[in-house]
Amino acid sequence: MPIPLSCPDISEDDVQAVVAVLMTPQLSLGPKLAEFEQNMAEFVGAKHAVAVSSGTSALHLCIRALGIGLGDEVITTPFSFVASANCMLFEQAIPRFVDIEPRTFCIDPALVERAITKKTKAILAVDVFGYLADWDALRTIAKKHRLALVEDSCESLGSARGKKKAGTFGDCGTFAFYPNKQMTTGEGGMIVTDRDDIAAQARMERNQGRDPSSTWLEHRTLGFNYRISDINCALGLSQLKRLPDFVKQRQQIAEWYREELSPLAEHITPAPDQEDVDISWFVYVAHMSSQHSEKDRDALLEHLRSNGIGCNNYFPPIHLQPLYKKQGFNKGDFPVTERIAERTVALPFSSHLSRTEVATVCRIVKDGILRL
Ligand SMILES: *Cc1c(COP(=O)(O)O)cnc(C)c1O
Repeated sequence: MPIPLSCPDISEDDVQAVVAVLMTPQLSLGPKLAEFEQNMAEFVGAKHAVAVSSGTSALHLCIRALGIGLGDEVITTPFSFVASANCMLFEQAIPRFVDIEPRTFCIDPALVERAITKKTKAILAVDVFGYLADWDALRTIAKKHRLALVEDSCESLGSARGKKKAGTFGDCGTFAFYPNKQMTTGEGGMIVTDRDDIAAQARMERNQGRDPSSTWLEHRTLGFNYRISDINCALGLSQLKRLPDFVKQRQQIAEWYREELSPLAEHITPAPDQEDVDISWFVYVAHMSSQHSEKDRDALLEHLRSNGIGCNNYFPPIHLQPLYKKQGFNKGDFPVTERIAERTVALPFSSHLSRTEVATVCRIVKDGILRL
């Protein structure tokens, strides 16, 4: 039986919630949108939540709402999904990459300050895999230099440091609901913020530049169609109710992986915990030990795939993507990111993975290591 890298967890209630919307005349900009936003704002602990078509459109609207444009620089991490840097390119702004902390895989605050120039407008940090960036340190730097702070929390919905949840650490935070995330709406995204101005502008720009007092055919500013349908929102509402269970199940599965992988620690280390953070795991990323090369890692991934085990090399560094290499980035630019990225092994992970499946995956991992 193949085991996929990720798999959404859709219940009968989720299906019924979607079907119920289909029976109504309001498939977009209806009551489910408002309800989804309200429940999301409450869950995260933010004043506003603005639902949009994807995590990428959420990031794009945050960049625009902060007034970041042509030639402005934004400090960010190269160890992330490509959208966290692309959102600057959409507005002709410049991502200024800074290397990561090896313990958390998030941007290293100690390196941020020396990357600041007169053109720097913001810091956009990513809570990668569910780990939280060092937001206290980042906020101190942002305050000192009067920079905006954006939290790409697309991978950390439900993660918390004490009572403070992911999405609330910067001026605005973003979530994504693609089917491989902690919860899904099929496609979808969300901006969360305490700032009235950011929320208002995002609401206007997701809907073709209409403001709340506009008629349907009046467009106050340049906008996009970044709306999310009420069908997606109904699924989101139903999934959000189940999110606390998803987070617990994912923590249990991460624990099983740790137990099963521990005997192999000489070759592959389990995903580390983060001190002082309650992690909501997005993916389960184990790391090959330093005695192994990128070639060994790739051979292990190949072995897993040929045995029906979904896996991947989360993440190839953004600066080494063809799009960014064309702009002059090179291997060696961000050594910590590159050293880590060469050794990551993302294993199958979803809220309904069984203990037996985890054991099967780890048996095949062991098998693959013995062949190296
Ligand atoms: C998933 C993700 C996004 C974008 O989400 P989409 O909904 O696929 O557009 C952005 N940033 C990070 C870090 C992500 O993991």
